[in-house]
Amino acid sequence: MLFFKKDNLNPKEIFDYIKGITDEDKERIKKALDFANVAHEGQKRFSGEPYITHPFEVAKILAEMNVSTDMIIAGLLHDTLEDTATTEEEINANFGPHILFLIEGVTKLGKIKYQGATRHAESLRKLFVAMAEDIRVILIKLADRLHNVRTLEHVRPDKRQRIALETIEIYAPIANRLGIWKIKGMLEDASFQYAFPEEYKTVVKLRKTKGKESLKRIEKVSRTLQKVLAEHNLRHAQIDYRIKYLFGLYKKLQKKNMDIDQIYDLLAMRVIVDTIPECYQVLGIVHNLWRPVPGRLHDYIGRPKDNGYQSIHTDIFTPDGSMAEIQIRTTKMHEEAQFGIASHIVYEESGKPATGGKMEKKFDWIKNLIEWQKNVSDSEEFLTSLKTDFFGDRIFIFTPKGDVIDLPEGASALDFAYAIHSDVGNNAHAAYVNNKYSSLDTILKDRQIVKIETKKTNKPSLKWLDYCKTTMAKKHIRSYLQKNTD
Ligand code: MN
Repeated sequence: MLFFKKDNLNPKEIFDYIKGITDEDKERIKKALDFANVAHEGQKRFSGEPYITHPFEVAKILAEMNVSTDMIIAGLLHDTLEDTATTEEEINANFGPHILFLIEGVTKLGKIKYQGATRHAESLRKLFVAMAEDIRVILIKLADRLHNVRTLEHVRPDKRQRIALETIEIYAPIANRLGIWKIKGMLEDASFQYAFPEEYKTVVKLRKTKGKESLKRIEKVSRTLQKVLAEHNLRHAQIDYRIKYLFGLYKKLQKKNMDIDQIYDLLAMRVIVDTIPECYQVLGIVHNLWRPVPGRLHDYIGRPKDNGYQSIHTDIFTPDGSMAEIQIRTTKMHEEAQFGIASHIVYEESGKPATGGKMEKKFDWIKNLIEWQKNVSDSEEFLTSLKTDFFGDRIFIFTPKGDVIDLPEGASALDFAYAIHSDVGNNAHAAYVNNKYSSLDTILKDRQIVKIETKKTNKPSLKWLDYCKTTMAKKHIRSYLQKNTD
């Protein structure tokens, strides 16, 4: 029988994150913590701390993500199979097959490292396959990675930078595409200082000085708004602010010549209400109080973002002649905006003892990714196009019918044509971008509406390869040219 030692980590720190936790769940989590504690006995981290602090923190991150107790337990045990004498049989006997399944999934991935392109590419392939099989495995892996980057200060500098870069280039984008924005932001911010030390210092300083100014302004706006909302029977509306994540700010600054005065959402104000009609009511009140900035109203409630994000965003002119961003959403949207997919999995899990976390249709890109990677054998090519095609910055382009096609930034009208269908690509003749007649090599911008004009007689040519950014389009062009040269 295992005993919980007094001088050790307190499971209450995990419990506190779980709403409505049952006594049974408490016991299971305690048992897993005890088990991991004994298994990792005597092991230390680079920091000199007992190893158990790592799985403990990973479990806390998972609990905060609002995932199931099974996943939290798997988080506590995630390193036992790989790093301790613990066997599969022991896990199975103590925690059952569902937990074992998750831990094996995480263990199979091993430790992913940049160590020559081939090895790296291979471990990433494994990661994506595991992700398609059971999305919960990647969530545990993300929590694991987050705690690892948070403790990077204890790691050798060269190794540190490699891990930080890999986190920014691969893990954060995965979190982003899964809609777990809070984890994405935290992964990037923890890695930023090790990946780009100089830039980090600059951005920290900018955010600090400018943040204070914005805060004063936003507080004023907030006081006024709270009062007026109360007059409209919206006393329950919650107003809070969030300061932009450092790395997110850095990326935006790069696009604005590092001019912080061009950033209007450094500090965004959020109004959180109960229902969707109340969201629109708040929007009306806001626009009645302050003039909206033209072209800066985005209704992601009426039309959610491709990754499921919902909220109304609007920029307003504040009384001092500056601008501020206000986001309006329901409590449910607010929760989903932080941990996205994580909350859906809980929902899907409840009621049925599933071994696999099911994926929603909007995560079809994972399947596309698996399909795509089967055809790319060269490791360098795999890594490069992975970054551009799947994990680079995305733009969302609308078809005339209102369907959304998501493409990497810098994609052309021809990329869009191929993304619709290879036949549309192969016979593409011209494009209408926001109703304007444009050539196929036109670089598209986020949220444009694009219509492709095809001609049966039109065929791909060699120079089309220069018009495209996506590996997918290039592949179709090459395969057409191969079949039709002689
Ligand atoms: Mn670990």
